[in-house]
Amino acid sequence: QTVLVTGATGFVGTRLVAGLAASGHHVIALVRDPAKARALPPPLTLITSLDQIASDTRIDAIVNLAGEPIGNAAWTAAKREKILQSRLATTEAVVALIARLARKPQVLVNGSAIGWYGLWQDQPLTESAKAHDCFSHELCEAWEQAARGAEAHGTRVALLRIGLVVGRDGGVLSRMLTPFEFGLGGPLGSGLQWMSWIERDDLIRLIAHVMATDAITGPVNATAPLPVRNGAFTTELARCLRRPALLRVPAGLLRRIGGQFADELLLGGQRVVPNKALSTGFVFRHQSLRSALEAIL
Ligand code: NDP
Repeated sequence: QTVLVTGATGFVGTRLVAGLAASGHHVIALVRDPAKARALPPPLTLITSLDQIASDTRIDAIVNLAGEPIGNAAWTAAKREKILQSRLATTEAVVALIARLARKPQVLVNGSAIGWYGLWQDQPLTESAKAHDCFSHELCEAWEQAARGAEAHGTRVALLRIGLVVGRDGGVLSRMLTPFEFGLGGPLGSGLQWMSWIERDDLIRLIAHVMATDAITGPVNATAPLPVRNGAFTTELARCLRRPALLRVPAGLLRRIGGQFADELLLGGQRVVPNKALSTGFVFRHQSLRSALEAIL
């Protein structure tokens, strides 16, 4: 099969391309900087614009991951606009590509986030849960609506709602590791906020499962079956690194530094349940955070 991947040079995308190549797929990777894509494995076609794809090209599936990083800086108005517009522009270009392809791709797997649900306390959230409004929700909703444009062309659309991806050299762990390694780690605020996480290779395998399972449409929670509170995440990470995790970071300090970003990504959370993955037979290799962290660290 031929799979088009946007965001192929990212933390998730590089691993996805490696996984797809290893299982015999040909990948067309949309990249901004071909030099950054040098490490991606063959068989691979690199493009810098979707306009380079001829209308008679055969593309079986599309995985859409590209977007301005969300968790690396405070959400100023300009940053928010970049976060939103980068995703909408790529997704609209993907739908326009599907419109002009003579043979339509079978599936578009679109990677949004559990932020779609907004901020919640303890209630378990399956794919049928409602959302609380906030920037994360507005972003993910706009992104999902843009992706749904592919349905008009007969392409199946799966809307991944990705949790915190844990893996080597990137994502949430790379941001947490340094303070922990110096023995300066600890819970954020109350530590009661939920962290719905997924191990990166489990996410890649789930994307393959969604691609291959015709019955899967609409929202799909991409999170491990056992989410944890921030305090438990902290304790587990410290245990794995054999370091203390005693230094609680005050909520007020995080809010002063990060504003809304801190409220939505660090101090708030949601307890997400991967109902659709489990009910369609997907088996997580890492159900518990301990299993994932021990494999990674
Ligand atoms: P990364 O930030 O590692 O990668 C993002 C990808 O998008 C890169 O290929 C990057 O290209 C490209 N990109 C960055 N900015 C732009 C832009 N302005 N316009 C077009 N393309 C751009 O993200 P991840 O791999 O971690 O995540 C993939 C997707 O999944 C993202 O959209 C993210 O929001 C979502 N997600 C990720 C989670 C996580 O924990 N990692 C959690 C929930 C959702 P380049 O290499 O050239 O910079």
